[in-house]
Amino acid sequence: FDMFVLAFVERLFRPTYRKDDFVLGKKLGEGAFGVVYRVSLMAKKPATKEGDLVLKKATEYGAVEIWMNERVRRACANSCADFIYGFLETSSKKGDEYWLIWHFEGEATLADLMQSKDFPYNVETMILGEVQDLPKGLERENRIIQTIMRQILFALDSLHSTGIVHRDIKPQNIIFSEGSRTFKIIDLGAAADLRVGINYIPKEFLLDPRYTAPEQYIMSTQTPSAPSAPVATALSPVLWQMNLPDRFDIYSTGLIFLQMAIPTLRNDSGLIQFNRQLKRCDYDLYAWRKTVEPRAGPDLRRGFELLDLDGGRGWELVTSMVRYKARQRTSAKAALALPYFDREGLLALSVMQ
Ligand code: ADP
Ligand code: MG
Repeated sequence: FDMFVLAFVERLFRPTYRKDDFVLGKKLGEGAFGVVYRVSLMAKKPATKEGDLVLKKATEYGAVEIWMNERVRRACANSCADFIYGFLETSSKKGDEYWLIWHFEGEATLADLMQSKDFPYNVETMILGEVQDLPKGLERENRIIQTIMRQILFALDSLHSTGIVHRDIKPQNIIFSEGSRTFKIIDLGAAADLRVGINYIPKEFLLDPRYTAPEQYIMSTQTPSAPSAPVATALSPVLWQMNLPDRFDIYSTGLIFLQMAIPTLRNDSGLIQFNRQLKRCDYDLYAWRKTVEPRAGPDLRRGFELLDLDGGRGWELVTSMVRYKARQRTSAKAALALPYFDREGLLALSVMQ
């Protein structure tokens, strides 16, 4: 009860908006269930601290997406794009639409950044500010990729700790926030909240086949359909332990790591070919490596070299994420504790303080 009162009061003091408050800008994306625009506020609205905004006009799943964003806003705000407001717009010619408003986080998703020939150096300048005049090389590339992975896993860990599984983790849904200079997760349209049973039944048709884990269903298909909210709240920690639904996101994140390490996997055809090969190897990454390494081109060889740095710490990370069985995959929290994320200089820093 208290939680609802708090949520209500919090919402009362936030600005509320309606359709006529927005001036539509550039279209940023269009999916099967909604259209996303960059928008700005009408001048007549009193000045707010929000500058540029993003609007998603969503169809049937908009209500769930608003619910997820409200929850993230209260429980783990920094892991996802900053959500401002959501409402039902009934006057639309196209029928009921849910309108969702976020702060405009930045121009580029990880997908955009990964398409650059300069990746990952183009990200280094964004994360660190001024370009440092260090020699380019594998070690430096690895350091940048490691920072990106740490930020993604950190955001995922807080989502998972809140009880939310995203189910559509991919570079297109990871935005670089220019304000905080970190990567944040967006697009909770396919997310499931297992603590309260919202969107409990997986909508597998929503999932992106390029990044989905082999199980397809995040919960056992024998799990009964969504129980009512109070029952789900009592049961869900048990269900979570049984099914480890968070490991679905971990598989997708492992694929993103591979794409960052190996340039040939960054485009669709490379990724699709990889998925086919991995399936043929029964999702055994070691077996896959054995089949492709002998006839690897320079890009692939360089990718393995990066993963093999420091005694194979990157390889250890990726092989603990990309596994056939969900329960053999690492959690986001455990991944962050792997040697791959050990920071040189951390010790020196703590000695100095
Ligand atoms: P969908 O994939 O359902 O079309 P998304 O929520 O992923 O919708 O948004 C589509 C695109 O809009 C993203 O890939 C991104 O380029 C852009 N975008 C979404 N949210 C933001 C945001 N908060 N700030 C900046 N750009 C955003
Ligand atoms: Mg998306």
